[in-house]
Amino acid sequence: MQGQTARKKIKTIKVNLDKCMGCRACEMACSGFHATPKFSSFNPARSRIRVVIDILNDEYVPVRATDYAKAGCDGRNTYTINGKQYSECSFCGNVCSSRDLFKEPDSGLPLRCDMCKEDPELKEPWCVQVCRVDALTYEETEEEGEEEEKLGDLEIGLDSLVDKYGLQKVIDGVARMSRKGQDVNLG
Ligand code: SF4
Ligand code: SF4
Repeated sequence: MQGQTARKKIKTIKVNLDKCMGCRACEMACSGFHATPKFSSFNPARSRIRVVIDILNDEYVPVRATDYAKAGCDGRNTYTINGKQYSECSFCGNVCSSRDLFKEPDSGLPLRCDMCKEDPELKEPWCVQVCRVDALTYEETEEEGEEEEKLGDLEIGLDSLVDKYGLQKVIDGVARMSRKGQDVNLG
């Protein structure tokens, strides 16, 4: 209909660094939610939120997995916030080759925060729900524009495999698997 503009929902998780105490309950909740079946296992290494902890510097930074980056940056910048010095890596959610964060431990495939995508939608993402000190708070706003289509786990995983092995090897591998599947069905 003419004159009507689509509204898109913006989901945000705000982080209050002064409140985080490094309990890592958010990591456990996230890994449980994404386990198959849900909540059948809890392993922070599979979490899409990780808490960067530096006890000597009294530093606790919850950071969520964002994009898959083919290469790491030099990570040399530092930020001083309220007198504390933080490395830029403490705030970076990129899945990059320079560190082990946000890689599925068995496959090495990248993990990404999906805001706890669920149908029906959750009132709040799990990491926010379990944070007892409100270091994480959830906000929804609306703005004009079309909803962006986000890459799912499958596309992100394929992107990283193509980066690692090359497109042709991935295509050949999928073709081999599909032939094997066909043989099994026919057998
Ligand atoms: S649950 Fe909250 S307080 Fe605990 S580590 Fe996560 S963000 Fe920090
Ligand atoms: S919003 Fe959901 S998927 Fe994202 S980090 Fe929090 S618990 Fe994990």
